[in-house]
Amino acid sequence: MTLTVGVDVGGTSVRAGVVDASGAVLDTARAPTPGGESALEATLARVVGELAARHRVTAVGLALAGFVTPDRRGVRFAPHLPWRDAPVADRMAARLGLPVVVEHDANAAAVAERRFGAAAGASVVVFLALGTGIGSALLVDGELFRGAHGVAPELGHLCVVPGGRACPCGKAGCWERYCSGTALAATTVEMLARAPGRSPALRRLLADDADGLTGRRVAAAAREGDPVACAAVADLARRLGEGLSLVADVFDPELVVIGGGVSGSAPLYLDDAREHYAATLTGGGRRPLARIRTAQLGEAAAVVGAAQLARAAR
Ligand SMILES: [Zn+2]
Repeated sequence: MTLTVGVDVGGTSVRAGVVDASGAVLDTARAPTPGGESALEATLARVVGELAARHRVTAVGLALAGFVTPDRRGVRFAPHLPWRDAPVADRMAARLGLPVVVEHDANAAAVAERRFGAAAGASVVVFLALGTGIGSALLVDGELFRGAHGVAPELGHLCVVPGGRACPCGKAGCWERYCSGTALAATTVEMLARAPGRSPALRRLLADDADGLTGRRVAAAAREGDPVACAAVADLARRLGEGLSLVADVFDPELVVIGGGVSGSAPLYLDDAREHYAATLTGGGRRPLARIRTAQLGEAAAVVGAAQLARAAR
């Protein structure tokens, strides 16, 4: 059976896996992400080389958050990585002696979910990775839709709140400022500022350590019934549903798959999000609703998808 390597090239760590044709991860290797282009490429060569020494692998797929050229060989821009208009696939192929493809990490994760996970067999699929921001992908009959220049879709930067929170992309009111782990913490901080007495526990946590109030902490507090955390989660659910109704107006998806770290807390907000989606959808009640479900492959999705894309491109 042919084996390929998928690598999730993140801003803090590089995670690689040997993946078989059934999507199973057989072996893994990881390293911290160094600064600088040549140090990063040397780290990738070392991590992939480690796996290639233990397994007979035939191709490599790299997944990263950034703009990838339509031929999947170059990286135009990646906010958390040093590559700028860099011919990454060709340089890494020369170093490794193996074919290499590059893909946006949300695209890679979506491919994995379509082939092996939550989106199996679905026609038009929107994939959202709710994490630090929102990563997104669109699959039509199993094929990624990348747009003319390789950068579509960027659903996380749809404006859902005109004049709303500032976004690092330069705009204001972007969807990811309201529906990510970062957003969940930001909403909680805003709510605590308005009503400090409503949640003494979260208020103390914030006073002790301004960075300690993460989306994960808020979700945990919501599970325990903290009123401010529950209100912040309810706000995320509403914005998620409203944003999905905009997305559905453009793509009319059969299925929406919610992945990323925040999907682990989906039981807290997904039913609410479905209700807001149905209530705000254009022509709601007179058209079929997209199914909305959580991803199945967890953190390994980008690795599995990158390996699958490398296999398909050989
Ligand atoms: Zn933005």
